[in-house]
Amino acid sequence: MSGRLQYRAALVTGAGSGIGLETSLLFAQEGANVLLVDINIAAAEKAASIILERFPEVKAAAFKADVGKEQDVKAAVDKAVALFGRLDVMFNNAGIMHPEDDNALNTEERIWDLTMQINVKGVWWGCKYAILAMRQNPIDEANGLHAGGSIINTASFVALMGAATPQLAYTASKGAVLAMTRELAMVHAREGIRINAICPGPLKTPLLMDFLNTQEKRDRRMVHLPMGRFGEAVEVAKGALFLASDDSSYVTGTDFKVDGGLSSCYVTPL
Ligand code: NAD
Repeated sequence: MSGRLQYRAALVTGAGSGIGLETSLLFAQEGANVLLVDINIAAAEKAASIILERFPEVKAAAFKADVGKEQDVKAAVDKAVALFGRLDVMFNNAGIMHPEDDNALNTEERIWDLTMQINVKGVWWGCKYAILAMRQNPIDEANGLHAGGSIINTASFVALMGAATPQLAYTASKGAVLAMTRELAMVHAREGIRINAICPGPLKTPLLMDFLNTQEKRDRRMVHLPMGRFGEAVEVAKGALFLASDDSSYVTGTDFKVDGGLSSCYVTPL
């Protein structure tokens, strides 16, 4: 088997659903060993078993962690290194969009804090422990394995554009992910560690569809989508694969948009 991530070790957070699930499958298809991390261990275990069935050449395992807890994130990275001997790709993808998140007047502080704990601190800790692990990666030139690695942080189109359908804590958290990613990319640029953010547009995943639970809410957004449809998680997974692999060897510190043109749009086609 050959693939763009052959012999690489990857850790994906939020791997039980949506973008994380599709990305874990794609990484495995491209030859990576994958640790699937999720707070929902049943979902992560199911995803890992699908990988083992479809791609018996690779290793896959599930690991329960709440990325809002530093010790959980450290334990997840330690587990990946223990299982695979290295960590080449860290996808800090888990995130929440709380149903009680609203505008400046209505959002309660506990919702703000919970959102920041998971969406911002979770990504910080994911970067921290991945960087420490990637510094130790053994070089294996015969198999194309080098020092360093690729870290991908999931932000969102809402970090780039305002919306009059507010989720203030979520939006602020994703802006923080973009700013943090740029700075970390610069700090570690000479260590062979590339750090990029991916900015998905609105997708047909449980995270958004549970929130857009009426036709009226979906229509309110649909008119703004240049391609006339929501995106699919697998379309973001393909972007994550590019950032994970050596195909993006000169890409770091970027806001990689997979948003169907949304953030470039003034007027949509009729
Ligand atoms: P999803 O709800 O389908 O999947 C998220 C997964 O993360 C779930 O399996 C959930 O159990 C897990 N998770 C939640 N909290 C966690 C925690 N504290 N620790 C570990 N795992 C946790 O969501 P998705 O749409 O695939 O979203 C993935 C990422 O993409 C999120 O960061 C989200 O903000 C971002 N995003 C999504 C959209 C969209 O339209 N769906 C758009 C832009 C950005």
